[in-house]
Amino acid sequence: MEVSEVLFFNYRRGAKTVYEGIDALLQKLPLSEVVNKGDLVAIKAHMGELGNVTHVRPGIVREVVGAVKTAGGRPFVTDTTTLYPEARWTAMEYLQTAAANGFTGESMGAPIIIADGLLGYDGTQRSVSKRVDGCDLNEVEVAQAIVESDAMVAVSHAKGHDLTGFGGAIKNLGMGCLTKRGKATIHGVSVGEIDLGKCTGCGKCVESCVYGAMRLEEGKACRDVEKCVGCNWCLFACPNEAIKLPDGAKERFQLYLAHGAMTVLEKFGGRVCFINVVQDVTPLCDCATHAGNPVVADVGILASLDPVAIDKASLDLIDRAELVPGVLAEEGPDRLGRINRVDSTIQMCAAEKLGVGKLKYQIIEI
Ligand code: SF4
Ligand code: SF4
Repeated sequence: MEVSEVLFFNYRRGAKTVYEGIDALLQKLPLSEVVNKGDLVAIKAHMGELGNVTHVRPGIVREVVGAVKTAGGRPFVTDTTTLYPEARWTAMEYLQTAAANGFTGESMGAPIIIADGLLGYDGTQRSVSKRVDGCDLNEVEVAQAIVESDAMVAVSHAKGHDLTGFGGAIKNLGMGCLTKRGKATIHGVSVGEIDLGKCTGCGKCVESCVYGAMRLEEGKACRDVEKCVGCNWCLFACPNEAIKLPDGAKERFQLYLAHGAMTVLEKFGGRVCFINVVQDVTPLCDCATHAGNPVVADVGILASLDPVAIDKASLDLIDRAELVPGVLAEEGPDRLGRINRVDSTIQMCAAEKLGVGKLKYQIIEI
């Protein structure tokens, strides 16, 4: 088929509740072709940073859990720890944050398992089978609970992202399914550069770096590249804007992200389906405590077997959606990319070249 099908539950149409809409999407997909009886099924969802209130609602994930059970699978809700030392830094802290955000074993009707273990280093190195120009990635470390699952449902929030412009299914796979080491291999291509002319030697970046990669040398910041994992926490900590992303960092990051997504998908041999929730479309991602006010009116929920098609369809629907009053948006496509100063489609084009999916899609409204 030249185009991939993307099913669309449009919030503007029909009298269905959101839960009925999700069930209808998964029946039409159909989920039963991805999930076999007795399968361990990872429901991969970002459960939000502590203080973020625009992440995917727990009720939506719970409905997916129910559908997987109906299809005969054994679901668990999962995500991975962060590279930076915030409220999802270890599995223990992540579970506490998830509970604060409404995600518990009881509310989900399934266990919550942090896929990369207590500290975020439990995983398996998997070879990157092919590459597009500009990427020299050989391996990425995939979180162990993802590796050990039989099938996966990736529930992604369609929203903005500082590095990728738009973040959806490709981001959920290519970053969200990796261990800390895996994340570091991808984030490592977008590390902020130190402008010594602006550096006052205040030491805030040194305090911020839990990897011990920053020090002061002759009153100026100095990075140990061997220890640095590319989390860019020092960039955010610098009060003087002396650490800045180098030219091309956001573009490179997206290219590598697509390779991460391909590597995760290959493990499943096609037994993954994707749900994109296009609501609370904030300029920044769910890792941000405040991701900004939504840019457009809530759109609906999409489902597909193709992560590229579902992301492109989400991006296009966001472009066509009504702007929230007061939002100033530049003219032209890729609203979220324009807000974040990068072309969001780089990740999608690279993923298509890698055979992850197709940019051309057909929307089928349910
Ligand atoms: S935080 Fe910024 S200004 Fe302060 S030492 Fe680090 S780079 Fe220099
Ligand atoms: S030096 Fe900066 S980017 Fe590197 S690990 Fe430390 S905080 Fe993260």
